Amino acid sequence: MAELKIAHLYPEVLNLYGDRGNVICLKKRLSWRGISCTADKICLGEKKSLAGYDLLFIGGGQDFEQEVLLEDLRSGKGDEIRAAVEDGKTFLCICGGYQMMGHYYETIEGVKCEFLGAIDFYTKGGKERMIGNYAFHTGKDSGDCDVIGFENHSGRTILGSGVEPLGRILKGFGNNGEDGTEGVRYRNVFGSYSHGPILPKNPVFCDFLIRTALERKYGSFDLDPLDDGFENKAHDAVLKSVLDGTAGKEE
Ligand code: GLN
Repeated sequence: MAELKIAHLYPEVLNLYGDRGNVICLKKRLSWRGISCTADKICLGEKKSLAGYDLLFIGGGQDFEQEVLLEDLRSGKGDEIRAAVEDGKTFLCICGGYQMMGHYYETIEGVKCEFLGAIDFYTKGGKERMIGNYAFHTGKDSGDCDVIGFENHSGRTILGSGVEPLGRILKGFGNNGEDGTEGVRYRNVFGSYSHGPILPKNPVFCDFLIRTALERKYGSFDLDPLDDGFENKAHDAVLKSVLDGTAGKEE
């Protein structure tokens, strides 16, 4: 029987806006299909090889929480994460967890967090926070779907030349509020500013992520469809409200 092993990195430090809901959603959509799934929490200070995992999740965090990670990343976990990235393992990295994959994040106070440099981009904090419901469309090789979410970040991310964004903004800020990009796609790493959590709100993107991880592990994989009638209705209603500017203004 097919199995997917999930690693949830830094769950005790990086879990803004219930980002751990992404792991719950992955487990649920796998179990509904009879696909075995384990999810291990890997916390600060825990020495554990990541080689045996198929999908790795890192949530979002406040500036000071990201600073807390630095020592742990330098203690060897950073090397493990970089190796897993280059090995084509599937990652979902949200906001602070996304920023951590780049060269650095310089906070608005001028604290420069030297991060992994696993992907060629950097982030600089800005005075105005980028907050709100938003929507973007993912690239052709990243699910080619509309994604809704909630963003709240000071960081402006600038992708290196030739680095592919996860998608293009339909409404909202995204990476920096200027170049119309959102997130990053590098090998099988998917980075996004999308809290929400992103996966329960976007079943098509969630299944794309699951398929990516299973195909890397088993070659091709035929993922049975689920009855997402309600999920898609909710998704489409929120997408409409984000695009017409009424999201969050419901009476
Ligand atoms: N602290 C980072 C920023 O403000 C990330 C925030 C987050 O994870 N929501 O940009």
